[in-house]
Amino acid sequence: MGTKILVVEDEERIRNFLQRGLILDGYEVETAADGQSGLHKFHETTPDLILLDVMLPGIDGLEVCRRLRETSNVPVLMLTAKEAIEDRVAGLDAGADDYLVKPFALDELHARVRALLRRAPSAPPQIHSFADLELDTGTRQGRRGIYSFDLTIKEYELLELFITNPRRVLTRDVIYDKVWGYDFGRESNIIEVYVRYLRQKTEQGDMSRLVHTVRGVGYVLRETEE
Ligand code: CA
Repeated sequence: MGTKILVVEDEERIRNFLQRGLILDGYEVETAADGQSGLHKFHETTPDLILLDVMLPGIDGLEVCRRLRETSNVPVLMLTAKEAIEDRVAGLDAGADDYLVKPFALDELHARVRALLRRAPSAPPQIHSFADLELDTGTRQGRRGIYSFDLTIKEYELLELFITNPRRVLTRDVIYDKVWGYDFGRESNIIEVYVRYLRQKTEQGDMSRLVHTVRGVGYVLRETEE
């Protein structure tokens, strides 16, 4: 079984360009031309990754992404014509894992797709832990006390980075390089957005904070503020 990618894009020219490029790279490709049929195709074909245009007729890409996230952690790579940081953040808020701004080169597309599909290849599953926080590399789920939680790809990678470097202050540059692996736009607040997601998931109930901000530097996983 090959790796299957679902392309949801209303512009036929771009859809065909993406389809051809991905097939040449060895992927199986399904396509949909609007949000509704994209959701339908997703449930029908269970792809390994979705390329999702933001501007779609009917249900837009952000709404499609939100609905996907109600039931699935499938990697979502958003396509947008807009350069604006707030649009990228809106997509990430909707649960997308990454962004590609049109126009883009196929090389860049391939690199992002590979990065999102990348999995720890054959390492036996293990459970990382810090304080009462656990991260299972097999199920890619987190747990804290009685609460277990699912993680999107980038949330998982960020939490894995923290939990394998406990009590070590990680600079924003290190986090960008390890989790995103390319220059997302260092002025953006993508790290803040993801730290907020992790805090929501790791601080359920009355739980204390574990991911702390080190002002002007970055973040650290530790039990207490100082
Ligand atoms: Ca479009």
